[in-house]
Amino acid sequence: MDLSYTPEQEAFRKKVRVWIRANVPVREKDGSGIEYGDPKRIAALKAWQRQLYEAGYVAMGWPTEYGGQGADVVQQTIVNEELLLARAPGLIGMMGIQMVGPTLIQFGTEEQKQRYLRRILTAEEIWCQGYSEPGSGSDLASLKTRAELVGDEFIVNGQKVWTSNAQFADWMFCLVRTDPSAPKHRGISYLLIDMQSPGITVRPLIQMTGDPGFNEVFFENVRVPRKNLVGELNQGWLVANATLAHERNMLGATTRTQQMFNGLLRLAQRHQRYGRTAAEDPVIRQRLADLLIRVEAMKYHAFRQLTDSIKRRSPGIGASVNKLVSTELNHDIAAAAMEVMGSFGTLARSSRHVMDRGVWPVELMFTLGLIIGGGTSQIQKNIISERGLGMPREHRQ
Ligand SMILES: Cc1cc2nc3c(=O)[nH]c(=O)nc-3n(C[C@H](O)[C@H](O)[C@H](O)COP(=O)(O)OP(=O)(O)OC[C@H]3O[C@@H](n4cnc5c(N)ncnc54)[C@H](O)[C@@H]3O)c2cc1C
Repeated sequence: MDLSYTPEQEAFRKKVRVWIRANVPVREKDGSGIEYGDPKRIAALKAWQRQLYEAGYVAMGWPTEYGGQGADVVQQTIVNEELLLARAPGLIGMMGIQMVGPTLIQFGTEEQKQRYLRRILTAEEIWCQGYSEPGSGSDLASLKTRAELVGDEFIVNGQKVWTSNAQFADWMFCLVRTDPSAPKHRGISYLLIDMQSPGITVRPLIQMTGDPGFNEVFFENVRVPRKNLVGELNQGWLVANATLAHERNMLGATTRTQQMFNGLLRLAQRHQRYGRTAAEDPVIRQRLADLLIRVEAMKYHAFRQLTDSIKRRSPGIGASVNKLVSTELNHDIAAAAMEVMGSFGTLARSSRHVMDRGVWPVELMFTLGLIIGGGTSQIQKNIISERGLGMPREHRQ
């Protein structure tokens, strides 16, 4: 593993830094970065992604014919690092860029690639993920939403739940049961569904953060053209798992964890308790050191994944390790920030005494959700132990 950057890469970094400094949107005073309900905020986030794309800094590794630049992963890593340093807003179209986009590149027809990929990058079309159902979360393959092939169309009936961003998404990549008589993993197909189709009802669910981050989605005789099937009929489990590995890497983004840790450090260095800053308190220092060690270990794990990717080695269970470690670490960082703030941490976002715009209590709750979303920590441990360490499989019905 070579951890140094070449002179060309350093020159590229300088160029990116100059561009970001000149273009990064002003941070909103009251925004935590994870509230999605407001149309003005959605429009601003779409505009930011488009600007970044037009500058050539989104999905740089994608093939040129689909809007990427065929660049190596190191360049995208440099861009991500610089965005982190500049504390730039996240990309609203992440589920498209990181989940369904790479899946379509791998499994999509040429027509699907031409139709969807570029619009994912420009944020013209936002995607949501229709996997979970009531009773089918960890045991995803038990899903019941039914799609019946009638002529050239699927007729979809059923319900999804916990669908993040469905309230403003244009498209959903969705798992449906197309063969109820087959063993459960073999009767599933992967469909692309237009969220404007007649028969779809989206009902927002308020999360404990107070934000309507995810939704229930109901399908009543929704017609989906057969050409929106990705991969083979009844082979959707294979496609779904490719998307899941991409999702786990997205949720396990090291840059977000580093950004959170830097925020915690700034807070501890600023906040006065008992006549000194929190960062000078030996107990807090110990906590910060422990967290920093975990952040660094995670960063090097990400470098290892980067090396695998450059050398085109199979990522194995890397995505699950990433997801497990980083989502739990993010939550522990938020918990430490709450401890640093003491009773200030309990203030509502609207209070004039609130610290750091009230992001930490929201982060504490939101990061707990991400330990669950994308497959819970327990499920990641099952995957790591069975597929990575070769331990006996758990007994499943
Ligand atoms: C913030 C957030 C966003 C989400 N966004 C989306 C989305 O956009 N699209 C989507 O489709 N879904 C989404 N989800 C749903 C998510 O994928 C599921 O919540 C998750 O897979 C767990 O399923 P469940 O909630 O049904 O819990 P269950 O599967 O009922 O699990 C309950 C508990 O049992 C444990 N458990 C279950 N099975 C096992 C096992 N075999 N071994 C050990 N322990 C086990 C779990 O770890 C958990 O602690 C989101 C969830 C959250 C929290």
